[in-house]
Amino acid sequence: MKKEFAVIGLGRFGGSIVRELIELDADVMAIDISSERVDEYAHIATQAVAADTTDESVLRSIGIRNFEHVVVAIGENIQASILTTLMLKEIGVKKITVKAQNDSHEKVLRKIGADQVVHPERDMGIRIANNMVSNNILDYLELSDEYSIAEIKANDKLVGSTLIDLDIRAKYGVNIVAIKRGKHILVSPQAIEKIRLEDILIVIGSDEEIHKFEKKAL
Ligand code: ADP
Repeated sequence: MKKEFAVIGLGRFGGSIVRELIELDADVMAIDISSERVDEYAHIATQAVAADTTDESVLRSIGIRNFEHVVVAIGENIQASILTTLMLKEIGVKKITVKAQNDSHEKVLRKIGADQVVHPERDMGIRIANNMVSNNILDYLELSDEYSIAEIKANDKLVGSTLIDLDIRAKYGVNIVAIKRGKHILVSPQAIEKIRLEDILIVIGSDEEIHKFEKKAL
């Protein structure tokens, strides 16, 4: 059976989620207060509905409860985003993902029970900045304020050594959780695995440790 999602707010962020979910073969109900926006998605989403989602009876009438996962991508209008999240929670939607505009918005969303809060602009900024300061860091994903996962390109200094030789965990405190090698990915690589040219190391650790590893080991 296809997975069923609803996306509320069809701006750039919500719109791109709708398109990608459809590409991934999911069923998507696209919802916006603006009928122009809804018209744009009439031929893209499985269903497109014009509705003010701050109104609980409206949400019930469109059957929002039947969706296993609802995304709230209302941007500018923080009040509408919070009210919508609260209504979804009251109605009993199982999983709610909400886009936050700023830290206080995020705090409120967490307090009222949003399951996942995303900050696309902030997170993308962090990834791009990390990529800009280091040629070796290809991608950077924050897990918390302190810990992250980074994709780091192996260079000449590492090539030919095994993970035991490098003793990365003891020296830098980071763990190599996987190695991307062309199309393959070695998950939990063995200690005797030799690093090859073009390998991409996927490391997990604190931001400080990852940067130490990236500066000293490469
Ligand atoms: P982005 O920054 O991702 O482009 P926008 O703030 O431009 O986001 O878009 C948010 C969308 O949410 C708009 O299309 C707007 O019409 C919609 N929206 C705002 N308030 C409500 C509401 N109460 N109910 C449903 N949709 C809403």
